[in-house]
Amino acid sequence: MSMIQVQEALDTILSKIKFKGVEKVPLSQALGRVLAEDVVSRVNNPPLDNSAMDGYALIAEDIQSATPENPVKLEVVEEIAAGYTAKGILKPGQAMRIMTGAPIPSGANAVLMQEDTQKDGNNILCLDKADVEENIRLAGEDVKIGEEVIKKGTTLSPAHIGMMAVVGRSQIAVGQRPIVSILSTGDEILELDETPEGPQIFNSNGHMLAAQIKSAGGLPVYLGIAKDTEKDLMEKFESALKADVVVSSGGVSVGDYDLVKSSLQKMGQDMLFWKVAMKPGKPLAFGRIGDTPIFGLPGNPVSSFVSFEQFVRPSLRKTMGCSDLSHKTVQAKLTRTIHKKPGRLHFLSSIVSWADGEYTVTPAGEQGSGILKSAANANGLLIFPLEAAEIKQGQEVAVQLLG
Ligand code: AMP
Ligand code: MG
Repeated sequence: MSMIQVQEALDTILSKIKFKGVEKVPLSQALGRVLAEDVVSRVNNPPLDNSAMDGYALIAEDIQSATPENPVKLEVVEEIAAGYTAKGILKPGQAMRIMTGAPIPSGANAVLMQEDTQKDGNNILCLDKADVEENIRLAGEDVKIGEEVIKKGTTLSPAHIGMMAVVGRSQIAVGQRPIVSILSTGDEILELDETPEGPQIFNSNGHMLAAQIKSAGGLPVYLGIAKDTEKDLMEKFESALKADVVVSSGGVSVGDYDLVKSSLQKMGQDMLFWKVAMKPGKPLAFGRIGDTPIFGLPGNPVSSFVSFEQFVRPSLRKTMGCSDLSHKTVQAKLTRTIHKKPGRLHFLSSIVSWADGEYTVTPAGEQGSGILKSAANANGLLIFPLEAAEIKQGQEVAVQLLG
């Protein structure tokens, strides 16, 4: 079994992961999906020069001398509401009442806000001057016809949804979501509605993996628990193959009942069994059964969690055509000195916060591969580099932001 670094394992895996395909969805279903086309605007936004304020459209030169003590009087000749166009052309000495979003009438070159005016019968008194283009939003200042507004590969946020509505898109091409089957393994593992006795524990990995798959954008299919026999494992792996991707947990280490490896060896192609130079995690299986990529993750809950985030999540993102495969990483100032043995890259479940213009990071409690509590309290994974043995309080470290 070869020892391999995290990045090399990820590169090898990603080189074998394919894009699943495109589907069209209504805009209402597009949040969180990965855009599969470049969105190009077919409209100008705003379509016309329009008012940014409720006030009066006028000619800036007419009111250059206006002050509260020496107001300039203009004749109000028309009123323009949003959605309507002025009938006339504005001439010197005139103003038009205008509402926010209404088009600027021809002849006008500024809007004086209502607060700087006083009504005087059919006239207004301008109490302040205005610059040319003041309070005018220019046609196309947000988006111009032909402009690319969102790039292919983007994961769509609420503001992206708004942007697509701005340019009038009701249907949108996105990457298809991968169906991912989850197989937990182990004679000691129980379903949540069973009653544990003695050494038995609940299937936490299966449910955590389902949630991780969902939050990566995939569609989890929970297949339950396989016993530690090749027969049961092979049967359950066989039924897992209807999915686009298979993820199992447990049984990839060196124990006598770690039979996922030997089962996959019999069923799979190009199966790779690695020791990845990381902690938590280390044993990792990757290969294919038929055309379906399969990940054999380690069984310890934190190892399973972290291995998923490092290897499976980027793979699922790739099947959807996402341009950012891995979590965002930030530099953060360590709040206390940390130590480890060199030789493996450690991921520490950590709490990242933003204060006074910088990120700080604190490891979240005990870091064992079975201490899921620390991961549950964390919002980031601190990356303690392979060869490092100590990082001092106050130094900057890279932290992967989760979620
Ligand atoms: P294994 O890799 O199968 O040797 O499992 C390593 C450790 O992870 C053992 O303590 C298992 O009981 C535990 N484990 C394996 N699978 C699960 C699971 N689905 N949920 C919770 N713990 C598990
Ligand atoms: Mg096991």
